[in-house]
Amino acid sequence: MLTVNAYAAPSATEPLVPTTIERRDLGPHDVLIDIRFSGICHSDIHTARSEWGPTTYPIVVGHEIAGVVREVGPEVTKFAVGDRVGVGCMVDSCRECDNCRKGLEQYCLKGNIGTYGAVGRDGQPTQGGYSQAIVVVDDFVLRIPDGIELDAAAPLLCAGITTYSPLRHWNAGPGKRVAVVGMGGLGHMAVKLAHAMGAEVTVLSQSLKKQEDGLRLGADHYFATSDEETFTRLAGSFDLIVNTVSAKIDLDAYLRLLAVDGTLVNVGAPEEPLSVAAFSLIPARRSFAGSMIGGIAETQEMLDFCAEKGIGAEIEVIGAEKINEAYERVLASDVRYRFVIDASTF
Ligand code: NAP
Ligand code: ZN
Ligand code: ZN
Repeated sequence: MLTVNAYAAPSATEPLVPTTIERRDLGPHDVLIDIRFSGICHSDIHTARSEWGPTTYPIVVGHEIAGVVREVGPEVTKFAVGDRVGVGCMVDSCRECDNCRKGLEQYCLKGNIGTYGAVGRDGQPTQGGYSQAIVVVDDFVLRIPDGIELDAAAPLLCAGITTYSPLRHWNAGPGKRVAVVGMGGLGHMAVKLAHAMGAEVTVLSQSLKKQEDGLRLGADHYFATSDEETFTRLAGSFDLIVNTVSAKIDLDAYLRLLAVDGTLVNVGAPEEPLSVAAFSLIPARRSFAGSMIGGIAETQEMLDFCAEKGIGAEIEVIGAEKINEAYERVLASDVRYRFVIDASTF
């Protein structure tokens, strides 16, 4: 067992505090990773605060992990000491079901094993990336290409793949009009990725405060959803809308912005149920869909794509003592555009 420093949420209502956790001894296929940077995803906040249902405390969240291999188990051939690697939202799955066999481990029929808040194959609760080191089985470790700095790479492991996967699935590319709702962690990655795929990109943000950034990151157009005129002006004009908003929004208003056969894919995961009027879908054969992170092979494909296109996240690196403050800023939509914790401060 290895004891490492970490930050944990003791309960749904208390701030995160420094603690220590144990990492398991290396099994034959395990990789011990020295974490260098850990991104703060809004899902960490939902989980730390039991917004998606009861969380088991104390919990160490964090599933945007970038680091360097310290040690490998005797049967690991894919990774060696010193390799730059990442871990995202899953650390294992059954690997046998139809979905796992198709590379859709995130949709494992037995449930994927989350990086935190799940129970690992060893029967122990999984604890995430707000820590100095982690042990993960080799098949769920990703290679971070040399072209991407580790701090800017960390958010790709969740925000990057969560937006890359639906953009690819719904064929974002030349000739496709893609709208991104919400320009936070996921949203800003969606803008960069959709632009790099060749789509025409529009940001739909609550205000125009981040317009300049949006256009710099690759958006062609930027509108404020606080302006009623936006919804009349853009009616029927998108092939794909990626909704990254962490709160409940009026989906019907956004569905009306889709062209015939358009899809609104929800990646935002608010705690309240979302509602959709049948007549927002029927008149233009529209679809309302959801999407969860991406498979392991697809995550590697995304990292390679980002390296090729020179894409990383826009980040603000913080020390661990600033985590609680950062949470408040994320909740206030005051993140530009992902907080990343320097793991040397845990
Ligand atoms: P984030 O950084 O907080 O970004 C969310 C953005 O949504 C905000 O920056 C803001 O953008 C907008 N927003 C927030 N509250 C709003 C409101 N009340 N009305 C309208 N817009 C609002 O969060 P994130 O880390 O990108 O995560 C976004 C959501 O995706 C979370 O619910 C998270 O749990 C979920 N998630 C899902 C998956 C998946 O696999 N499906 C993976 C990761 C995260 P503007 O200021 O531009 O309006
Ligand atoms: Zn996440
Ligand atoms: Zn499976």
